[in-house]
Amino acid sequence: MNRTGRYAPSPTGDLHLGNLRTALLAWLLARSQGAPFLMRIEDLDRDRSRDEYERRQLDDLRALGLDWDEAPLRQSERIADYEDAIEQLRGRGLVYECFCTRREIREAASAPHGDLPEGAYPGTCLRLTAAERAEREASGRPAALRVRAAGSRVGFSDRIYGARQGLVDDFVLRRNDSTHGYNLAVVVDDASQAIGEVVRGRDLLSSSPRQIWLAGALGLPAIESWAHVPLVVGGDGERLAKRHGAVTLRQRREAGEDPRETLANMAASVRLCEPGERPSPAELLDRFDPTAVPTGDGTIPEPGE
Ligand code: GLU
Repeated sequence: MNRTGRYAPSPTGDLHLGNLRTALLAWLLARSQGAPFLMRIEDLDRDRSRDEYERRQLDDLRALGLDWDEAPLRQSERIADYEDAIEQLRGRGLVYECFCTRREIREAASAPHGDLPEGAYPGTCLRLTAAERAEREASGRPAALRVRAAGSRVGFSDRIYGARQGLVDDFVLRRNDSTHGYNLAVVVDDASQAIGEVVRGRDLLSSSPRQIWLAGALGLPAIESWAHVPLVVGGDGERLAKRHGAVTLRQRREAGEDPRETLANMAASVRLCEPGERPSPAELLDRFDPTAVPTGDGTIPEPGE
């Protein structure tokens, strides 16, 4: 089984403890199976991505003792591959233009549409009459491109969360500002990096059916294993964010905690060590049991707490 793993951060800020713990688990899952571990920089959002953040994120991962094989793949350098994938789908009649504004989508999506998931695109632009289409084209507003998935239902088995399934909506392949969509880029890149196991936060569980469906539509090899991992939350139970205090490696360092302690705190929060222990990454690897990763979200104590 090919279990090549990856971590795919978006360089839009410093990584917080939730991101870092996901990276740690992805690294442990790959390395405990003797598999390659690859890095991918998901920098398609040109307004928010910064080289400086990319550098700091990789520095933080190294400071924790994580390593990876090969130079990181940068999505902003892979536009031609995403365009090729769109052309392939277009050739099969699976691409259509969408003129909807965010507001129109929000309003349409809040109305019930069969059993499509919440927030799913209801296919408005697929059903335009010729006159409606001509009117939108004449407005000069650029169109986004969507895939015609026709509400396919896809099931998969997650190593941590078990059997899952979801409906695939007509998700965006290319936004109307010409930025390629997250799902398209991930599927094309996971195939090109020959990823065997996708490890990422459980907030992306609902993206997997789309990605499985799209890989199939593009004739790409299926991901062999999925492992979504729990999220780190703040004291209020909400997903970790800046307002929760010292949440980045840099902030923890400033508060007097060295990276080895931060690593231990993250490890303890998923029961990989006891509170107060200071295992090295190699020691964590020795005792790592993928079947014992908890499913519940949890907190990580502040330095000195
Ligand atoms: N770039 C995404 C993030 O930072 C992760 C995507 C993935 O792992 O598929 O949340």
